Amino acid sequence: MNNSIKTVNPFNNKVIKEYQLHTSEDLTNILNTADKRFYEWRQTSIKQRCRLLLNLAQVMDDDTQELAELITQEMGKPITQSIAEIEKCITLCDFYATNADDFLADELIETEATESFISYDPLGTILAIMPWNYPFWQVMRFAIPTLTAGNTAILKHAGNVTGCGLAIEKLFEKAGYPKGCFSTILAGHDAVEKLISNDLIKAVTLTGSEKAGKKIAETAGRNLKKTVLELGGNNACIVLDDADLDKYMDTIVNARMQNAGQSCIAAKRFIVTEAIYEDFLKRFKEKVAELLHGDPMKEETTFGSLAKKDFADTLKKQIEDSVALGATVITGNNQNKSYFEPTILTNITKDMPVFKEETFGPIAPIMKVKNTKEAFKVASESRYGLGTMVFTKSIETAQDYISTIDDGSYFINELVKSDSRLPFGGTKASGYGRELSKEGIHEFVNKKTVFIN
Ligand code: NDP
Repeated sequence: MNNSIKTVNPFNNKVIKEYQLHTSEDLTNILNTADKRFYEWRQTSIKQRCRLLLNLAQVMDDDTQELAELITQEMGKPITQSIAEIEKCITLCDFYATNADDFLADELIETEATESFISYDPLGTILAIMPWNYPFWQVMRFAIPTLTAGNTAILKHAGNVTGCGLAIEKLFEKAGYPKGCFSTILAGHDAVEKLISNDLIKAVTLTGSEKAGKKIAETAGRNLKKTVLELGGNNACIVLDDADLDKYMDTIVNARMQNAGQSCIAAKRFIVTEAIYEDFLKRFKEKVAELLHGDPMKEETTFGSLAKKDFADTLKKQIEDSVALGATVITGNNQNKSYFEPTILTNITKDMPVFKEETFGPIAPIMKVKNTKEAFKVASESRYGLGTMVFTKSIETAQDYISTIDDGSYFINELVKSDSRLPFGGTKASGYGRELSKEGIHEFVNKKTVFIN
């Protein structure tokens, strides 16, 4: 078995660094420290924890450039987008520093008791298994509410962003969090499996693929541990006859091409009504042509590389198999090392891989449908349930469909995005549980009933 991890810059294929995995003895020590710390940490006041959040925001602000460069080196996104990711993490700290006290306050419920209420108590040490696509944001949106609720956390980050995982641990230390509140482990899948079975881990969260989600949930289930799963998505982007393309075309293209298409909440199926279809296609092509690929460290670069070279093989196969079923490649479908050209496909039918499977890269299948009713029907036919977006000038029409959407979110004239103030998560094969907002801070707490007669 490999006992080290090498990180590689996907833009130039150069090895960045090699890290030794933790031994099982190291892992036991880390877990014991996190557990011991929990019993002290849970005694601190929420106000104290919120003050540390403000420190954390400050250290991220101080180190923004350095942290952003690390993201760009390890997973290839353009530097301006890496900076934006760190800035988003800072706003998350501010959000919970302002609101955690309210979210975690006892909730009075009137009964025949003298007093009865819900007390939101921490659970203990929570294990997080996280992906590489937003290597700071994905971790922080779990860790910030979870620690502020009084838990301690252990992170197993994706191997290709090991440097980010270790940098996050350092940020918590620098901000003044006591040792053991947040720890990063360098571990393979088997070691993670053992950790989940350990009694000191109280719950598990994973953001990643459906396959990993099933595996982690199975192990956690065998050990009767709660899981939160944020998995893949195949979001529909519905464009109706009356969509304001002058205003929203940038948003629509960004909905697919952000992060070189490697985002769970990206628009992955474009469903366009026939009266606007030709105009939409023309504009989509023009906007995609403006994307600039190049050295991701340069500010002018707007389109990054795939985080791992082998992701291109999967995309190629999904395109080839769809073309065999009648799809037409309008533009793109070229690859140079880990750069995969933005690709537009038309003549799309529901049985094609680019339509029914998640495409984790810059592929835009554009399907023509007759009318609004058909558009929403086709959009709903997915195994996934992360989000749906619709573009139309008729808010009323869009609102009529709210109750028919089975996804975790529905965005009208906006791309599906995460926001500290709003719950985020999916249904069906996209997972379960919610992050962010009040819902997120309540995922890893014991909602304890207190009854005083
Ligand atoms: P993976 O699921 O393979 O990896 C995600 C994380 O899970 C990594 O840390 C990985 O570790 C770990 N992991 C995978 N399998 C196991 C296992 N059996 N035991 C322990 N840990 C495991 O995802 P990909 O790298 O393939 O990322 C792309 C997928 O993630 C897409 O399907 C995408 O939609 C989904 N995703 C979902 C998001 C959401 O918010 N819903 C956000 C981002 C991505 P290691 O790196 O060591 O293999």
